[in-house]
Amino acid sequence: MTKILENTSIKTYNTFGIDVKADFLCFYNSPADIKEIITNGPLHRDTEMIILGGGSNQLFTSDFKGVLVHPVNDFIERVEEDDDHIFLKVGAGCNWDKFVEYAVSHGYGGIENLSDIPGNVGAAPVQNIGAYGVEAKDSIYKVHVVSFHDGSEKTMSNEECKFAYRNSIFKSDYKNKYLVDSVTFKLNKKPEYISHYGTIEEELKKFDEINLTTIRQAIINIRSSKLPKPEEIGSAGSFFKNPVITSIQAEQILKKFPDMPTYPGEKNMTKVAAGWLIEQCGLKGFINKKGTAGIHDKQALVIVNKGEATGADIVEIAQMVQSRIFEKFNICLEPEVIIL
Ligand SMILES: Cc1cc2nc3c(=O)[nH]c(=O)nc-3n(C[C@H](O)[C@H](O)[C@H](O)COP(=O)(O)OP(=O)(O)OC[C@H]3O[C@@H](n4cnc5c(N)ncnc54)[C@H](O)[C@@H]3O)c2cc1C
Repeated sequence: MTKILENTSIKTYNTFGIDVKADFLCFYNSPADIKEIITNGPLHRDTEMIILGGGSNQLFTSDFKGVLVHPVNDFIERVEEDDDHIFLKVGAGCNWDKFVEYAVSHGYGGIENLSDIPGNVGAAPVQNIGAYGVEAKDSIYKVHVVSFHDGSEKTMSNEECKFAYRNSIFKSDYKNKYLVDSVTFKLNKKPEYISHYGTIEEELKKFDEINLTTIRQAIINIRSSKLPKPEEIGSAGSFFKNPVITSIQAEQILKKFPDMPTYPGEKNMTKVAAGWLIEQCGLKGFINKKGTAGIHDKQALVIVNKGEATGADIVEIAQMVQSRIFEKFNICLEPEVIIL
């Protein structure tokens, strides 16, 4: 029997800490729970439904008049292994960083650069989370899903998930139609380290040797020096995606702003650092008139809840940022955060 809360505050279920209510919050443990909520439970009626993982990439702007399904199936299971690899099946409700810590402490490589990312394992394939030159797709072997239509189950290969930059089939064709029940990861027993990205090499100089544990610690150190901890300051991490513009437009902007960081993209496209653009508009550390929300003073890409912010306060800042960037650079910033 699945646990269901009615007309409940979800303040502690979203990392922005927005205090709104949901009509129904259903806890998911196994595929049988989906069958139950679609036959006898609140999804029996024609109600809106959203899957809520750790709530670290969703912004609620009003009470949610529908059903939130929240996976809590928290397990890590060794499926098989050979000399070089181990296959671990992990429940959607497992905290992502708890899983990374498990992998690192057992000497399994592949996801150490994704240390300290908030959220749960179920959202890792949805978002194809990434950081420091690594994406979840690099280690995902299979994804097991349950259908909201009839409760049927299937296992999808890495290719079938159609992974791309912060994207996958779960954000398009499968969005809120299938729930990710578990993810099987293929990790390396003889890990190769990716340390050339960002300031990892610099941070690693503080340690005597380079191994999975020190890479994880270096990344945690770097992240905590610039990103707010969700337990202390509400946010959803990077609010905007790094925009991808034509290389011609990038060259034009570079003539005026030669310091603009750029990264080569596909087919004559160039990726630009959104945080840098926001900083150039003098918005780092901005606080709204009400004093409820602002832009993080250590990382301009992060919009923060300064206290009792509403979803509307956060959206207002996001829209102000978008128009300032458009005026100055003629670039449209697209939110990475899902606004509900
Ligand atoms: C301080 C901070 C730093 C961050 N840094 C990074 C970073 O470095 N890199 C990065 O990629 N992201 C980062 N993020 C964003 C966020 O952590 C990731 O997007 C994370 O994967 C979201 O996980 P979640 O469980 O909180 O998902 P939620 O926010 O609850 O959901 C995100 C989306 O996935 C869907 N979803 C969730 N679970 C499931 C499931 N089981 N089945 C199907 N759909 C599901 C939801 O419906 C929603 O569409 C950061 C966020 C914060 C707050």
